[in-house]
Amino acid sequence: MANRDSNNCLLCGADIQGDEDGCLRVTVAGNRVFSAHRSCIEALKLMLRKETLKPLEAPESAQSLVLSLYSDGWFSKSRKFKEVVDECKRRGFNFSGPTIANVLRDLTRRGLLTREGKIKDYSYIQKRPV
Ligand SMILES: [Zn+2]
Repeated sequence: MANRDSNNCLLCGADIQGDEDGCLRVTVAGNRVFSAHRSCIEALKLMLRKETLKPLEAPESAQSLVLSLYSDGWFSKSRKFKEVVDECKRRGFNFSGPTIANVLRDLTRRGLLTREGKIKDYSYIQKRPV
C-alpha cells in the first residue's frame, strides 16, 4: 500500500515525488516513511542553530516591541513600568523586567519617552512635541 506521507516534504509540505536525490527519507516504526527536502532540512538546521545561539530574550526584539507600542501611541498616556511589562506579556512576549527597564532607559535617553515618578515607581510617557 502506498504511503501518502512519503510523497510530501515533512517540512514544507510540497510534493517531492520525482525528486529522490534532493530529499531524505526516514522509515520509522510502523513502516511509516517520512521525507523531507535536503534544502528544507538544511534551512531547519540553520534556524535551530540560530535559535540556540540567540539569547531567548534578544534585547533588540524587546526594543522593537516597545518601539511598536510607542508608535501605536500606547505611551500617549503615562504608563507604569509594570504596565509595560504586562502589555509585552499580553502581546505574547515574555521579556524580563530588567530587559524592559533597559529598553525604557534607552528610549528615555534618546528623548522619545519622559520618565516620571520616583525610583522604583517610574512611569513613562511619550515626550510631547515642543
Ligand atoms: Zn521541503
